[in-house]
Amino acid sequence: MPAVFAGHGSPMNAIESNQFTENWKKLGETIPRPKLIFCISAHWETKGTFLTSMPHPKTIHDFYGFPQELFRVEYPAPGNPGYAEQIALKYPELQIGLDKENWGFDHGSWSVVRHIYPNADIPMLQLSLNRNLSFAEHYELAKKLSYLRSEGVLIIGSGNIVHNLRAVDWHNPNSGYDWAEEVDSNVRQWIAERNHDELINITQRGGIYRMAIPTAEHYLPLLYVLAMQHKDDQLSFFNDELTLGSISMTGVILK
Ligand code: ZN
Repeated sequence: MPAVFAGHGSPMNAIESNQFTENWKKLGETIPRPKLIFCISAHWETKGTFLTSMPHPKTIHDFYGFPQELFRVEYPAPGNPGYAEQIALKYPELQIGLDKENWGFDHGSWSVVRHIYPNADIPMLQLSLNRNLSFAEHYELAKKLSYLRSEGVLIIGSGNIVHNLRAVDWHNPNSGYDWAEEVDSNVRQWIAERNHDELINITQRGGIYRMAIPTAEHYLPLLYVLAMQHKDDQLSFFNDELTLGSISMTGVILK
């Protein structure tokens, strides 16, 4: 199964129809139907690594100040506690905890996945981002989970490569600052060259890279997807556009 990184951008993408959501929709029409979706979202950070493990995960509306219509969205895909447990047991050293009641699906996952699979009839699990791990440790953890792809599981990492909310320019929906363009384009180049070391150590470059990636959580889902890359995968980009000045919507498909 493919591994996909999606730039999710504004939560409004969940209910809008635009160039980005159209491409998410197309994705669902072109890739093989998975037996399960394994989602790594920027919006679930925890101390320790957790995996949702409830039969009916709730839809979490983790944002403020958006229209009521967005708060009414439900994504009732089932979970799969049995499979979640198998994953946790496969590599005990990863210390993946099973979350039976706290989380569910946050907007990082459902705002994208509801366009890919609108029927919500494929079981989905969400993995949290462990705040205690370095970029390299996240990458190593994800590598161990790459076997999931050969078990019919679709991997979806949902974040944004460039994501600086403080610098967002609400009057500028269709383009980005020069520094944001530069970082997004260099990241795409390193992805294409499979230069994962550069991507793991990216914030050490400081300067514009720090501006583009001021916090880890929206960038890390990209590292999860790249860590699951197979030697013979075909790689393609989609939605590689900047929005609101400081957010890149760039997505990556490995298949
Ligand atoms: Zn987000």
